Amino acid sequence: MDPERLWKNVIEELKISLPSSVFQTFVAKTQILSIENNSVLVSCPSSYLVEINTKRHHHLFKEALDRQTKQNNQLKFIFQPLPASSSNSLNSAPLFSFQQNQATLQQNSQLHPHYTFANLVVGNSNQFAYAAAQGIINNPGLNYNPFFIWGGVGVGKTHLMQAIGHQLLKNFPQYKIKYFPAETFGNELISALKNKSIAQFKDKYRQLDCILVDDIQFIAGKEYIQEEFFHTFNALHLSGKQIVLTSDRRPDQINDLKDRLVSRFSGGLTVDIQPPDYEMRLAIIKQLSDKQGISLHHDALSYLAQNLTTNIRDIHGQLQQLIMKALSQSLTEITPQFLNQLHSSTLTFSAASSDSKITPRHLISVCAKYFDVKTSDLCGPSRKKELASARHFTAYLLLTQTKLALQEVGRLLGGRDHTSIIHARDKIQKSLSTNPHTQQTIINIQKNL
Ligand code: ADP
Ligand code: MG
Repeated sequence: MDPERLWKNVIEELKISLPSSVFQTFVAKTQILSIENNSVLVSCPSSYLVEINTKRHHHLFKEALDRQTKQNNQLKFIFQPLPASSSNSLNSAPLFSFQQNQATLQQNSQLHPHYTFANLVVGNSNQFAYAAAQGIINNPGLNYNPFFIWGGVGVGKTHLMQAIGHQLLKNFPQYKIKYFPAETFGNELISALKNKSIAQFKDKYRQLDCILVDDIQFIAGKEYIQEEFFHTFNALHLSGKQIVLTSDRRPDQINDLKDRLVSRFSGGLTVDIQPPDYEMRLAIIKQLSDKQGISLHHDALSYLAQNLTTNIRDIHGQLQQLIMKALSQSLTEITPQFLNQLHSSTLTFSAASSDSKITPRHLISVCAKYFDVKTSDLCGPSRKKELASARHFTAYLLLTQTKLALQEVGRLLGGRDHTSIIHARDKIQKSLSTNPHTQQTIINIQKNL
């Protein structure tokens, strides 16, 4: 029999015996490459599909194949990207547009490139959540749906959630994945109501294959947003689409959340992430210093791991400060002496130290001078690009060098909302670990303080 005809028959058999989601994901995209004697080679469009088909579905394929050929075959799956023109009508997109499409999907997903599994340290506090995440990336929409991750600030909820998104895009290159804070969902819904574009709004969310919704506690007490989210959730869940949610609390502890949402959110797997323990803090500190290319004396490392005990965001922030200080003194290693020199009996190197003499006004004027803008503009309403960037740096420094709270920083910088200050802080913090120019800017400003 002609190999393509043969494979079509095999696939038809499996189509009858498998659930349609499994069939569409794992079987429909396979193609026969060759059949020689009784050795059959079959391609899958991703290495992930090769792995799953080999581990889980090999016997099903083989049984169908043996029945069709009336002989005992050896079957092997290999990875091969979809060819430019394929006889398989399911995959008839040319390779070029397939790749283009993938880039668009990646972009639409809103995932931050840093938040991957490769950059995630796994330790006691997050190993259960991590293991569950591995289950999802292998079987999205099947187990653990929804996957609900909760925990305090800065423990890595967003990072883990986005890592799932990155890996799903790798495993299922055509998946439409979207990350969004619950607040964005709410804001878009309100705009859609104003613009009378509710139908488009619904479509936009309901055509996705996976949603990653951050900080879902935001919808608490907001009836209309809860109502719409409930319907979006149901539409996706019913069609086996993966839903991942994060929150600062367990579903049943979120006040003013409708019972039916509490029940939906608790209907899959709920896991928590705790603040990191000592071992994990060691690993995180090591990871960051390695990335920044500065070595850390082992006594300094253990000292830091003992003393930086809050959460991972904080550890990153404080360590970043420390590294900046070391770099500004042209040090290549952080030593216990260096920490001592910073009077670090209880980690007072944190710029928000009690004896900090830097006043907010002074810091703002140093920043204004550095960026060559007027103080009144820096603290004004304009959103011009140069001003916005200078403001991000100023907000970051105000938070790290003075004891001001987010709201106060927002007030000083033109009456801005605390969420825009969080945005500025996170932006600089992320850029510090990847962009030497950002590091240099902070060092230069610190020298002028
Ligand atoms: P949350 O969403 O819980 O508030 P994030 O996911 O935003 O916390 O994490 C805060 C910071 O800490 C981010 O920069 C993130 O990359 C980092 N981080 C969190 N968890 C880990 C981890 N396990 N390994 C490495 N970095 C982490
Ligand atoms: Mg978060």
